[in-house]
Amino acid sequence: MTIPIRVGSITIGGGYPIAIQSMTNTDTKDVGATLRQIACLRAAGCEAIRLALYDLECVDSLRQIRKETGDYPLIADVHYDYRIALGAIRAGIDKVRINPGNIGEGWKVKEIAIAAEERGVPIRVGANSGSLAKNFEHLPVVEALVASALREVKLLEDAGMSRIVIAVKSSNVTEMVEATRRVSSSVSYPLHLGVTEAGPLSISLVKSTLGIGLLLSEGIGDTIRYSISGDPVKEVDAAKTLLKAAGLLSGPDIISCPTCARTCIDVEEYALKVTELTRACVKPVRIAIMGCVVNGIGEGKNADLGIAGIPGGGALFEKGEILGRYPKSELFPAFEARVRRWIQEEGGGNPPR
Ligand code: SF4
Repeated sequence: MTIPIRVGSITIGGGYPIAIQSMTNTDTKDVGATLRQIACLRAAGCEAIRLALYDLECVDSLRQIRKETGDYPLIADVHYDYRIALGAIRAGIDKVRINPGNIGEGWKVKEIAIAAEERGVPIRVGANSGSLAKNFEHLPVVEALVASALREVKLLEDAGMSRIVIAVKSSNVTEMVEATRRVSSSVSYPLHLGVTEAGPLSISLVKSTLGIGLLLSEGIGDTIRYSISGDPVKEVDAAKTLLKAAGLLSGPDIISCPTCARTCIDVEEYALKVTELTRACVKPVRIAIMGCVVNGIGEGKNADLGIAGIPGGGALFEKGEILGRYPKSELFPAFEARVRRWIQEEGGGNPPR
């Protein structure tokens, strides 16, 4: 079990629920755009958001963003200039991600550590296969990642830090998994999981889910981030789907068939619409969307709510009971009304996470 570490209004590690993170890709100096993206990410279920502070002016923007976001967990991503990290800590950031190796002299790292520790702000360090320090470059990648991460932890501990989160990232899934396992067996600080630079949606979904999922199944990992080129809301959707599939997050279980020559309804369209409708639902409701009655009846029986295509329309099921048969034109509206009832009335509300 890792030690619990407070990050603003949430706790990472110590057996607390796995926290979903993402990162804004707006210009942090464009405060309006960044706040809008933060709002979208929060609505999608993101529990902590990282912002890139790439120069000192970004700290002024962070102050404004802080005012508008209350106690929602914000993380500063800082490279090279220790003054940015100090500014972020003074501006009320909840966690700082630095790479001690590129901050420069030890006294600079120490100043950050002292300021962070005084305010109870944790620091996330780690290693990334793309930016390994020169003195580790001769080692095999996994060993270099582990040695580099543990050296950074030591640097912070020597500077007096006790609130440390670690990430060991690689764009190679096997390296990321093995390095994280080794770090996990060496220290008790919470671990941030992610396959770095994992690619566009379809590629990242496979790589990230494989890497993060393997580690979560072994009980390793306290906070996760999917790295996906593009809209960060997709990262949150992917993270939530993984956590639900792993039984680590409550929410709807959407079942839909792969379709075949027997398919009588637009299964994909219905499944996507229902996924969107239930995006913020936390009730563990099982909803089945089946193209025909061959497997539809069986799945409908096992689901809280189900739909199965029949020639010219479809049938709705609820807890194994056939609710009715509908012609094509009335089918989805009837299904949608039932889904809404489940998530709003029978689900005891539809609260945001
Ligand atoms: S449920 Fe029916 S339509 Fe869907 S894949 Fe199975 S047999 Fe085909």
